[in-house]
Amino acid sequence: MDLRSVYPYWLLEKGIQKSYPSLNKNIKADIVIVGAGISGALAAWYLRNEAFKIIMIDKRHVGMGSTAATTGLLQYEIDTPFIDLNEKVGARNAARSYALCNEAVFELERICSHFPAAEFDRKPSFQFASYKKDSKPLLLEFAARKKLGIDVKWLDKSDIKNKFGFDKPGGILSTNAADINAYGLTHALLHYCTGKNLEVYDHTNIDSIHRSKINFKLVTESGYKIHSRYVIIACGYESSHYISKKVNELHSTYAIISEPFGSKELWYKNTLIWETANPYLYIRNTRDNRILVGGKDDDFSSGTRRDWALNRKAKMLEVSIKKLFPHLEFITDFKWAGLFASTKDGLPYIGSLDGRSNMLFALGFGGNGIVFGVIAGRLIRDLITCKKNPDSKIFAFDR
Ligand SMILES: Cc1cc2nc3c(=O)[nH]c(=O)nc-3n(C[C@H](O)[C@H](O)[C@H](O)COP(=O)(O)OP(=O)(O)OC[C@H]3O[C@@H](n4cnc5c(N)ncnc54)[C@H](O)[C@@H]3O)c2cc1C
Repeated sequence: MDLRSVYPYWLLEKGIQKSYPSLNKNIKADIVIVGAGISGALAAWYLRNEAFKIIMIDKRHVGMGSTAATTGLLQYEIDTPFIDLNEKVGARNAARSYALCNEAVFELERICSHFPAAEFDRKPSFQFASYKKDSKPLLLEFAARKKLGIDVKWLDKSDIKNKFGFDKPGGILSTNAADINAYGLTHALLHYCTGKNLEVYDHTNIDSIHRSKINFKLVTESGYKIHSRYVIIACGYESSHYISKKVNELHSTYAIISEPFGSKELWYKNTLIWETANPYLYIRNTRDNRILVGGKDDDFSSGTRRDWALNRKAKMLEVSIKKLFPHLEFITDFKWAGLFASTKDGLPYIGSLDGRSNMLFALGFGGNGIVFGVIAGRLIRDLITCKKNPDSKIFAFDR
C-alpha cells in the first residue's frame, strides 16, 4: 500500500535514526508485534516491564509508514464532536472516550519527558467555528465538554481577534493539548525497549499468519518462521489485510510547512488551531518556528492521484493560511501527502476480532492516531496480562 508521498518533513529533518537487522532465522517469542510505527512502539512501551520475550517486525524501516507523515498534533478532541458521539455510542462511552483521550495527552507528556527526541511541547488547542451557522452548535459542544470536566473556555469574536488576529464568530479554547515529533518518539521508544525485553527486525515482510490451538506461526516473505503465543497487529492502514469486515474508510490528506519565521510566538501561545469545517484545516508551529498547515482531504486513496494532486493542494493550503494570517509571509518549504483512515464513530479499533483470540489489533484510525496509540497500548497490555479493563468494550470490533 502506498501510505505517503516520498518526502515527509520529519524524515528529511531527522533522517534514518537507527536501522535494525532483518530476520534471517526461525525464532520463538511470547509476543510478536507486527508494525514498527507509533502504535507498535507504544504497545512495546506498555509491555516493557512484563516477563515476555517480544519481537517486533516491520517490512519498512522503523517509523517509515504513516508515522513519518504525521503532523503530530495531540488533542483530546476526537474527530466526532462529543455531542454527536453521544448519539453514536451512548452517553457513557462518549464521555469515557473523551476522558481517555484527555488523559492520554497527559500520559504522553509523562512518556515524552524521558525522550527529548519526541520534542513534546505543551500548548492549548483552539477550534473555531468556520461559518456563522457553526457557532451555535459549537457553543453547545463547549457546554457539554465543560460539563464533562474538560478545561475549556469559550472565545467570542473579539477574544479571537485579540488573541489570534483573525475574524471568526466563536470557538473553544482547550488547555490540554500538545504537539510532538512522532517519528522521533517512535525511534526513542524502540531504542529504549530494545534494552529491555524487545528485539526489532526491520525490512522483514510478514507474508502469512497461521493459527494453531496453542500459538501462531508467522511466516516471512523469505520463508523464516516465528512462533508466538500472542500477535499484536499494529500495521496501521495496512492492517485491513487481517480483518474480514471493513471497519474504516480511506482518504488522502495533505500538509505543508513554511520556512522558519524569526519570532518565537507566532500567535497566542502558539496554540494548535483547527476548525469545524469538514475537511478541516489544522495548524501548528514547530520548534524551529515553522508553521505547519494540513487538511484539504480527498475521499480517494490512490497514491498516484494523491501525489499528482499534491502541488495543487499545497497551493490551496497556502491560500488558506494566508487568509487567516495575511501579515505572515508564509513561504512553503516542504509539502507531503498521506493516506488517512476514518471510522464510523471516530473511535479506534482495539483488541481481538472476536473478543477471545490472542491476535490483538491496535488500530488508531482517525485524526488522533497517536493519542489512540496510548489507549491501545494500555488496553492490550491489560488484555495480555489478564487484567480486567472495562474500557475494552468501547473500542471492540463488535461495538
Ligand atoms: C498527513 C498526516 C497527518 C496526520 N496528522 C496526525 C496528527 O496530527 N495527530 C495524530 O494523532 N495523527 C495524525 N495522523 C495519523 C497518524 O499518522 C497515524 O494514526 C499513525 O502514524 C499510525 O501509526 P501506526 O503505527 O498505526 O501506523 P504506521 O506508522 O503506518 O506503522 C505501521 C507499520 O506496519 C508495517 N507493516 C504493515 N504490514 C506489514 C507486514 N505485513 N509485515 C511487516 N510490517 C508491516 C508498515 O511497514 C508500517 O511501518 C496523520 C496522518 C497523516 C498521513
